[in-house]
Amino acid sequence: MGKENSSYRDSLATVTSEGKRKFIYPKKPKGKFYNLRNFLSLFLILFMVGVPFIKINGHPLMLFNILERKFIIFGLAFGPHDFHLLGLSMITFVVFIILFTVSYGRIFCGWLCPQTVFLEMVFRKIEYFLEGTPKEQQKLNKLPWNFNKIRKRGLKYILYFALSFIIANVLLSWIIGVDQLLVIITDPPNQHLTGLIIMLIISLVLYFNFVRFREQTCTLVCPYGRLQGVLLGNESIVIAYDYNRGEPRGKFNKKVGSDLGDCIDCKQCIDVCPTGIDIRNGTQLECVNCTACIDACNFVMEKVDRPKGLIRYASQTEIKEGKKTGISTRIIGYTVVLTILIALVTTLLLNRTDVELSILRTPGIMHQEHPDGRYSNIYDVKIINKTFDTFHATLKLENIEGEIKVLGDKLVIGEQEVKEAKFFVFLEREQIKQLNTIIEIGVYLDGEKSDVIRTSFLGRIKDAKKEK
Ligand code: SF4
Ligand code: SF4
Repeated sequence: MGKENSSYRDSLATVTSEGKRKFIYPKKPKGKFYNLRNFLSLFLILFMVGVPFIKINGHPLMLFNILERKFIIFGLAFGPHDFHLLGLSMITFVVFIILFTVSYGRIFCGWLCPQTVFLEMVFRKIEYFLEGTPKEQQKLNKLPWNFNKIRKRGLKYILYFALSFIIANVLLSWIIGVDQLLVIITDPPNQHLTGLIIMLIISLVLYFNFVRFREQTCTLVCPYGRLQGVLLGNESIVIAYDYNRGEPRGKFNKKVGSDLGDCIDCKQCIDVCPTGIDIRNGTQLECVNCTACIDACNFVMEKVDRPKGLIRYASQTEIKEGKKTGISTRIIGYTVVLTILIALVTTLLLNRTDVELSILRTPGIMHQEHPDGRYSNIYDVKIINKTFDTFHATLKLENIEGEIKVLGDKLVIGEQEVKEAKFFVFLEREQIKQLNTIIEIGVYLDGEKSDVIRTSFLGRIKDAKKEK
């Protein structure tokens, strides 16, 4: 900021000089950005609650079952065998977040993060509805426990817990699916004690978060928030106060207005801030980019008949130099890496087969000679079924006469299953002309040829040596 002293950095907006928690009572914002956030939040909440109920061919559209390592993304099933794809997708996602933050700051925090969406658009609204304005809330807080306070607070806490419980259930439905969740809910509690305890713990954590912890999740706990210091640069778009235009600040007075900047020091931007900071001090770690201060200041500017945008989306360079910023080399670098990663993930996804097969001669085991004159080799087959269907697999020699005998049960591969088995290949002595005979094994799934795998058959070592 240059012109400001930086003493605000010596303290936290949410901690008193005695080191106690200073509870924030932000004013309800009003304005264009708040309305847009309302619409987006409604869409996000509907998406979060509704998606687990959407099914394709009886399977969820999305599932992130980390417990059983089963994932379904837009109807496509992923399992432990797709680890490389998931790993690459995660890297792409992280690079995307970094790139996005370097360019556009913490837009995610203000507009998309579930913490902000639920806290500001659901829980805070219940509080305004039940307890009134921030001043009324503070007054209620100081009152001794009387009937009115018990009624208001009691209702608030019941609603908060009910909502936390619902959110915990929604979260769980993304992990275990709605069907499994319904089973847990409808069965007698003693049959799913672990599931119920987990659900209760998540609900209590959420409840505590929304009742007490609130903005501290963003300012103290969230790792993404802590990363802002290294991700944001002077060219990043952040919520910024135009100090060139606003300073020197002073009380609104039409007569002396020309000597002062546009900021009338009304502190409305602080009053609406859910993290309690003064954005006029410059970009701060606590700013979650919620845009409430933009709306508040625009409202004030309108009232005093000055141009809007004293607080706006802008980079520090733009504010300092009064000109639009170009694309920095850091952003170009990140974009190149991101494009390569997206191309790689897309290629892998497009080339991903429904079934993965491998056949290898069992290492360390020589050929066997049988009394009927035939020779045999033993092989390992591995079939990974990535679909939700069950397949019956059969193996057939494609380029040579002979017999295949699978050890154990028939090769039936259930949905998302990895099947491993051993099988013998029998060949007549006359068919073996050299040490390594190349054989082709066709793998048929439900009678349809899926793949042909080339491997070698080892045999007649002595004869092969004689032939040499
Ligand atoms: S400074 Fe403005 S954008 Fe940042 S958290 Fe406070 S109100 Fe939201
Ligand atoms: S709302 Fe605008 S005018 Fe009021 S103190 Fe904040 S920056 Fe200044």
